[in-house]
Amino acid sequence: MTTTSPGQKIVLITGASSGIGEATAKLLAERGHHVVLGARRADRLEELTEGIRASGGSAEFRPLDVTDAEQVRLFVEGAHSRHGRVDVLVNNAGVMPLSKLEALRLDEWNRMIDVNIRGVLHGIAAALPVMRAQHHGQFVNIASIGAHQVSPAAAVYCATKYAVWAISEGLRQEVGGDIRVTTICPGVTESELAESISDPEGREEMRTFRSVAIPASSVGAAIAFAIDQPADVDVSEIIVRPTAGQS
Ligand code: NDP
Repeated sequence: MTTTSPGQKIVLITGASSGIGEATAKLLAERGHHVVLGARRADRLEELTEGIRASGGSAEFRPLDVTDAEQVRLFVEGAHSRHGRVDVLVNNAGVMPLSKLEALRLDEWNRMIDVNIRGVLHGIAAALPVMRAQHHGQFVNIASIGAHQVSPAAAVYCATKYAVWAISEGLRQEVGGDIRVTTICPGVTESELAESISDPEGREEMRTFRSVAIPASSVGAAIAFAIDQPADVDVSEIIVRPTAGQS
């Protein structure tokens, strides 16, 4: 089992290979936390891990598909057995292949449900027993401004984020006492998220819509704020969005 310095948390992050997950990993490592990085693109995770270590931070990675409950269980269990605890799980992995409902892109609807909802539930299923047993822990679930408002072409995506919001709020009410639950709702943020849009119309609309995007590190800073509060303070929700624009 590894030893950690006082105040250092063991923070697991899904979807850490780009965007918000990557920026959060860098920021938390700079603040002295140990980050355990998961996503499917192992080459990106390896590069990020090496970069964090080269800057004096502490990091490790494990390839992970959050749609597979067993892989998520092993991701959490591996970190737990190596470090003796899991302080924070950032359920961040997500996809956003937007299109109007009439386009009937059933595969993409299912993918959003699998990654954005089931992925978060798999994280909860894996980490909740560990956090219960150790009598502390924190879930940071990345929802979206789309958990508060719906827009055309985003019905299914927003539905998945409303679900993340509801699951997080239900979890917070059930586990309060030892375990903290934080929902982060970013507005438009620089990342690779819009690259999952295959619908040409949706892609074009997104280009203008995303022109006011804030840096991913701004969302990372909100996540770090929630994590670094004293144990008796649960920052239950943060909406962090561009000053300009509607989202
Ligand atoms: P990115 O596309 O840059 O990052 C998404 C991350 O999720 C990647 O690391 C990707 O890694 C990972 N991922 C996707 N599918 C899976 C999977 N099946 N298993 C494991 N990891 C997976 O976008 P963002 O950083 O923007 O997205 C992060 C979160 O923020 C998402 O939940 C998104 O919905 C949310 N969000 C983003 C906003 C924005 O404007 N950017 C606004 C509101 C919310 P890999 O492909 O290597 O698996």
